[in-house]
Amino acid sequence: MQKSKRSNIPFNFQHSLINIRYSVLLLLCSFITACYSQNASVAPVSHSAKWVLVIHGGAGGKSSMTPEQQKQYEAKMREALKTGSEILEHQGSALDAVEAAIKVMEDSPLFNAGKGSVFTSEGKNEMDASIMDGKSLKAGAVASVTTIKNPISAARAVMEKSKHVLLVGTGAEIFAQTQGLKIVDPSYFYTKERWDDLQKAREQQKSTKGDTVKKHGTVGAVALDMYGNLAAGTSTGGMTNKMKGRVGDSPIIGAGTYANNNTCAVSCTGHGEYFIRNVVAYDISALMEYKGISLEEATSFEIREKLRNQGASGGLIAVDKNGNIAMPFNSEMMFRGFINSDGKTEISH
Ligand code: ASP
Repeated sequence: MQKSKRSNIPFNFQHSLINIRYSVLLLLCSFITACYSQNASVAPVSHSAKWVLVIHGGAGGKSSMTPEQQKQYEAKMREALKTGSEILEHQGSALDAVEAAIKVMEDSPLFNAGKGSVFTSEGKNEMDASIMDGKSLKAGAVASVTTIKNPISAARAVMEKSKHVLLVGTGAEIFAQTQGLKIVDPSYFYTKERWDDLQKAREQQKSTKGDTVKKHGTVGAVALDMYGNLAAGTSTGGMTNKMKGRVGDSPIIGAGTYANNNTCAVSCTGHGEYFIRNVVAYDISALMEYKGISLEEATSFEIREKLRNQGASGGLIAVDKNGNIAMPFNSEMMFRGFINSDGKTEISH
């Protein structure tokens, strides 16, 4: 019976039925293979493929820089953005991008961080740096260090290789050395320009004009990587003519640096004492988390209202968990720049 039934079906139709069965089988196989390879893959289970890197080269006064110097600053910032963005583009972490971008600026004598740091009233370079991971809320920092070539890497080592958050002075330097970080003679950080700034500041102090040397150059970076993780880092020589042992906001988690995957990543620059008193970086995250306000509103309020009303000069860079960025400042200028996965990039001051 069956045989005769089958033979009644035209040959062409039988052929297409077989083809359909084959295609369904093939589709099923490829679906199973795709599911399996996704689970077995080392690639992230879910990511937006969206990344952002924002950097700053410090807030300060306009008058203090020639157009030629401005160009040099911008070129170095472009290099820092390129270095960090290559990491993010190749699925690297926000932490790696932040550290790498900051290292480029620390190694340049132009910025007040690493080589080129400003001098204390005693004529020494004492540097501060911090880094924070928005995913784990882990953080690391060093303060008043004088021989670590890249303080930002020492901060990261404190975060990842010690059980502490902040190490200072010789303790931080010994730790950095045990971690294999580069240690240099303090003279490595010297630049004539910063030395002259100190002499000017000393003169101004004597003539009771007060300290009017408004140099910029603290560096910072914030990033969102394609896994949705945020990170922030800041590195500085502090403020010209500062007292020996003075520590600013840059290595203070919550003041100069903060990152939380639920909200944003922030790096500040400006008159550190005010940023510490106002716990600026954390305040922005808290405003977003507890008040539900946007990054734009929170950062603008902090810099353009709160700090300005107190007579505090400075600015910050920030990125939120959705990749929105903010770069407000109330000083005459702030070197800043960003690059994102849409191919947009910009440097301004
Ligand atoms: N915030 C830094 C400090 O007070 C200085 C700066 O950003 O210019 O140490």
